[in-house]
Amino acid sequence: MANTADVISLLEEMNVIIQENKDYLTQLDMPIGDSDHGINLARGFQAVSEKLPGLAEKDVGTVLKTVGMTLVSTVGGASGPLYGTAFMKAAVAVNGKQEVGLDDFLAMLSAAVAGVKLRGKSTTGEQTMLDAMVPALETMEEAKGAPTGAVLAAGLAAAQAGVERTKDMVATKGRASYLGERSLGHQDPGATSFTLLLSVIAKHWA
Ligand code: ADP
Ligand code: MG
Repeated sequence: MANTADVISLLEEMNVIIQENKDYLTQLDMPIGDSDHGINLARGFQAVSEKLPGLAEKDVGTVLKTVGMTLVSTVGGASGPLYGTAFMKAAVAVNGKQEVGLDDFLAMLSAAVAGVKLRGKSTTGEQTMLDAMVPALETMEEAKGAPTGAVLAAGLAAAQAGVERTKDMVATKGRASYLGERSLGHQDPGATSFTLLLSVIAKHWA
């Protein structure tokens, strides 16, 4: 189980891992985009981290809603509205809860995936963040019943495998789609950043 304090510390760790990988994510966005994915997310999660101290007394849903709204208003590009939507939809799934467990987390991720699909008019196989999110969700839903740490580890491994598979995809959404076939061979930045965020959660329960 994770209460508001746990969720806040996870979000702080997410900010750290995004700042640590800012250049890496930006480099991934260079050949197929506009070299800003790391810069975008670093700005957004820095803004999130500044909001966290004021959220200690709130329920988990309110914390996540604030994260989503902060990302929408501070992250440029496609990923701001998409990650913002993901967190805001996840928030609705745990509205009012002071504590969340694995079932809640899977409901949050499921809502986030639905939100990204709707907002991005996208699905799997298009070389986007969904190619890490969806396999992670499906794998964890199948693994349910195992200890939480094992479920999350399986989800993380599925997300990492999904990131690898983006190299074999032709992008049909976002900036990378402008390259058509030339997007082949490139690792999707958004799938990579999602996997970093999931790794924080998996590490917490390891
Ligand atoms: P921009 O492409 O506007 O510069 P970013 O570089 O921050 O924004 O984010 C790019 C990432 O956003 C991509 O790697 C991809 O994972 C994700 N993305 C872009 N468009 C979509 C979409 N329609 N659906 C899902 N994810 C998308
Ligand atoms: Mg970009």
